[in-house]
Amino acid sequence: MYFDSNTLVFLDGEFIPAEQATCGAYAQSLHYGYAVFEGIRAYNTPHGTRIFKAREHYERLHYSCRAISLPLDYSVEELTNISYELLAKNNLTDAYIRPLAFAATPHMTLTAPTTGNLLMAVWKWDRYLGSQSLRLTVSPYERPNPKAVPIEAKVSGHYANSIIASSEAKSRGFDEALLLDLNGCVAEGPGANFFFEKNGELFTAPAGSILRGITRNTIIDLARETGITVNERFFRPAELQGATGAFMTGTAAEVIGVASVDDVVFTKPFEQTLGAQLAARYTALVQGQAEAVEA
Ligand code: PMP
Repeated sequence: MYFDSNTLVFLDGEFIPAEQATCGAYAQSLHYGYAVFEGIRAYNTPHGTRIFKAREHYERLHYSCRAISLPLDYSVEELTNISYELLAKNNLTDAYIRPLAFAATPHMTLTAPTTGNLLMAVWKWDRYLGSQSLRLTVSPYERPNPKAVPIEAKVSGHYANSIIASSEAKSRGFDEALLLDLNGCVAEGPGANFFFEKNGELFTAPAGSILRGITRNTIIDLARETGITVNERFFRPAELQGATGAFMTGTAAEVIGVASVDDVVFTKPFEQTLGAQLAARYTALVQGQAEAVEA
């Protein structure tokens, strides 16, 4: 699904067949999840292939590397250019881009590596959470304590928490998990941010225990441009009672409706909510982007 015998990846300065890209058995990243990544989308627009918010994604990749002292030898511009080149070499226009900064060095010591490696892969990926409104459940697993890890960095190891929570939710018949923070407030999903709508306003968790998603920020901007009030504040699951709608946002998921959270069923069908209006505006923006031209 992700690659075939014709697929090329970028690995440490070279475009090579995906089938030949390997990582040694003693790589520090493999053993300890000490790596950082991004999830980016390119769209086929009237102006050609355009990577949405390339600068923001690659600045976040740099931030994540700095947060865990992982060397990254490529500038934002170089990363953007490699992305476009990799898309072209794989004949992809609408696609997902996955840069991974990692440490291939054999290094079993618990200290930051002194050299870094870069893998970039691209593949065609449908919306990550599908297009049917989701049935969420509050996870028994919390988001990682922000005093234990740099939570705003997209560190590979943090995703053990995401996989555990998502698998647990699915094992109980739900579509996805909703994770609380260490104080019992709603944080986010395993790979997407969460918003709800009540009394004509939107609410979403503030910075603290979340990845402040680039899609989340785009949706907040689109909402405020249209005069919709967005409240970034802490809230507990009990506040979802009486909410009219909810949705999740992420680069891979885009904007996806939420039908319910455990026994709370949102009163309006997603199509009639602010989330659906914003989803349409988001699609128009990413598919027609003129201002997001990079490189
Ligand atoms: N939260 C988490 C934990 C994520 O993994 C993601 C996906 N990167 C998001 C939120 C959404 O972030 P973005 O909109 O930047 O893709």
